[in-house]
Amino acid sequence: MSLQKLTDKNLLSTTKALVQKEKRLTAKILDHFDEIDRRKLYSDLYYHSLFEYAVKELNYSEDQAYRRINAMRLSRRIPLVKQKVETGQLTLSNANLLSGFLGSVKDLSKKEESAIVSEISETSKRQCQDILNGHLKERGITPPKRKESIVDAGVSDVRMCVTISKKTLGKINELKALYGHKNIKLDQLMDLMADALLDQKKRERTPQRKIQDKKLSCDTKVRNMDNNHGNCDGKDNEKSHLLQIKTNRRPYISKSIRFEVFEKYKNKCALCDSKYYLEIDHIIPYATGGSSQVENLRILCRNCNQREGVKLFGVDKMTAPGRVKVEHRPAV
Ligand SMILES: [Zn+2]
Repeated sequence: MSLQKLTDKNLLSTTKALVQKEKRLTAKILDHFDEIDRRKLYSDLYYHSLFEYAVKELNYSEDQAYRRINAMRLSRRIPLVKQKVETGQLTLSNANLLSGFLGSVKDLSKKEESAIVSEISETSKRQCQDILNGHLKERGITPPKRKESIVDAGVSDVRMCVTISKKTLGKINELKALYGHKNIKLDQLMDLMADALLDQKKRERTPQRKIQDKKLSCDTKVRNMDNNHGNCDGKDNEKSHLLQIKTNRRPYISKSIRFEVFEKYKNKCALCDSKYYLEIDHIIPYATGGSSQVENLRILCRNCNQREGVKLFGVDKMTAPGRVKVEHRPAV
C-alpha cells in the first residue's frame, strides 16, 4: 500500500515500528563488526582496519563508522551498552561520549560503569555531557573544553584543534627556549618535532655497525644452528627449536636478519602493502617447525599477521586468553 493511502494512525505506528527495527539493526551491526574484528576479516579485503573497511566497503561516513566501532568496543567492555542501543535508550553519540569519559576515569568497577550507562540512557547529548562532566568534577578532573579536530585550511594546510595538558605546554615552552628562538611558531616547532621523531624511528630500524659487530659471533652461531652447519648438528638445532616452543619463547631473530627481511620486502606488508605496524612473520609457522632463516620470513602488518593466525589456528585459539603467541613480533 502506498504511504499516501495510510491513515494518520497507521503512518505514525509504522514509522515507530521502523525506527525500533532500525535500533535493533544497529545493535546487530555492532555484533557483526565485533565478529569481523575478531577474525580480522577486513585484512582479506586489503583494508588496514575495521574503520577503513566500514568507510570504504560499507560507505559509512567517517563519523558514522567511528561511532559504531566505538560503541562496539564499549559493548565488549560493558554488555549493557548493546542492550541499551538495541532498545534505543542509548544513542551512538552518547555511547561515544561515554567512551571518552572512560578514557579519563580508569578506576570504575563494572557495577559503577553499568550504573553510568543507565544514568545516561534516554538523555540528550547535552544532558549526557553534563552528567559525565559532573562525574569528572567529582573526581577532580577538569572536563575537556574542546575535542580534537582537523579541518582543511587551503591546499597544503590543515587547521588542528587539540587540548593539551599544562605539563605538555611546559615541555613545548622548554623546547622553544632550548632552540634559543622564542618566536618560533608552534607549527614550525611541530614540524621539527615530527622530523626528529621520524629520524629516530628510522635510525632504530637500521642496525648499527657496532652493535652488529658485537653480536656477530652470536648471530653466526644462531644462523649456523638454523642451517645445521658449524659445531651445532641437526639434533641440537631440533632440540633448541622444541625447547623454545615448549617454553613458549619467541624465536630469536637477529637484528641483521630482521634488517635483511625488511629490505627484501621494501618495508611493506607482503599482503596489503601497508607500511604501519609491521611485524616479522614465519611463512611456515615456527610452531610447526618453520625455520628463522630469511627464506622463511616475511613482513606482515599486524592486521594481516593476526588474520593469517586466525586462518591457520582458528579464531577461538587466537582470541583465547593466555593463548600461545604464534608470531606478533614488533618490527622495531
Ligand atoms: Zn597487511
